[in-house]
Amino acid sequence: MMSDHPTPAVPQSVQEPQTSTQINTPADPRSSISDQDRYSRQVLFPGIGASGQQLLASAHVAIVGVGATGAATASLLARAGVRTLTLIDRDFVEPSNLQRQVLFDEADARDCLPKAEAARRKIALFNSTITVHQQIADLVPANIHELLSQAHLILDATDNFETRYLINDYAVQQSKPWIYAAAIGAYAATMNILPLSINHQPLTTNSCPPTACLACIFPKPPTGPVETCDTAGILSTAVNLAASIQTTEALKLLTNQPHLMRRTLVSFDLWGNQRSEINTSTPNPDCTVCGQRLFSHLSGVGRPHITLCGRNSVQIHEHHRPIDFATMRTRLLPHGEVRFNDLLLRFTRPPHTFTLFPDGRCLIQGTTDITLARSLYARFIGS
Ligand SMILES: [Zn+2]
Repeated sequence: MMSDHPTPAVPQSVQEPQTSTQINTPADPRSSISDQDRYSRQVLFPGIGASGQQLLASAHVAIVGVGATGAATASLLARAGVRTLTLIDRDFVEPSNLQRQVLFDEADARDCLPKAEAARRKIALFNSTITVHQQIADLVPANIHELLSQAHLILDATDNFETRYLINDYAVQQSKPWIYAAAIGAYAATMNILPLSINHQPLTTNSCPPTACLACIFPKPPTGPVETCDTAGILSTAVNLAASIQTTEALKLLTNQPHLMRRTLVSFDLWGNQRSEINTSTPNPDCTVCGQRLFSHLSGVGRPHITLCGRNSVQIHEHHRPIDFATMRTRLLPHGEVRFNDLLLRFTRPPHTFTLFPDGRCLIQGTTDITLARSLYARFIGS
């Protein structure tokens, strides 16, 4: 099923307009709700006002990942009246998503509905005036321009660093603002990235110098195993906090007030009552991405090499990523059967079996779907 996602060169939104929804014709009874009624409380808020609401009505936001954070953000933006949303996700709704992914219900999980499509249907129920382009796809260098070029703003709601560094490369290269957001356990973090020359974009005519990019703060993606929601668990409240801050910052940008946006990487530990901020107000001149404009993630260098391997299995090669089997066993044990020796670790979670090697290479048996294999790797081994 996952192999049915659109090919990179053929964006679904362009090829098949029937997959988008734009229901605002007089014949549609749902359109009897006037914008004046719908947005009255938001327009009363001085930060938005009637002029801000007008700007939202012509805004287009792309959300990468429609899991917990993406569903919350999509819901908030659609209710706020951001008129066009592109929702990109490679996964299907599962029962374990229902604890925190606010746009999905039990029927979606039963039907294994793609998350982007399930989100589109839910949004149409509460705001039929929003155009949703659902993209059941894995964001990769080959399709990133097709999927993101029309959006004024990119929101990160992914579960992996591979995609975040790809978004960072693309956003800096194209001078497109993006907002990082992450949540795991009781921890939530978010950061606004406003690239150079953003002032030339029509949405942001207010003066606003560029911020640091993701690579200014973290030059390289984390090495070694990275915890994921599937291994460390997650509180719904942490997700909603990250999504709320991310959406509020998006509203400032979309209403042409980028000077009000936070210029720090802020993080919260809701369980431990900790909050921290890292200053991101100045780009690092030595940054390889925004300083030297080397876009290695966009060119595909360093991406895990993925190959179909024999019958019903996919191999993911990843280098420079030593795996500690004992630590990995502890992480994976709640999710299936784990056995390991010095040479390999075998993790069985029917219908899939992972064979993991000390250098991070992984053979995933039980699928020939590369997108699914990439998703499983990101969930259980870490990106
Ligand atoms: Zn940078």
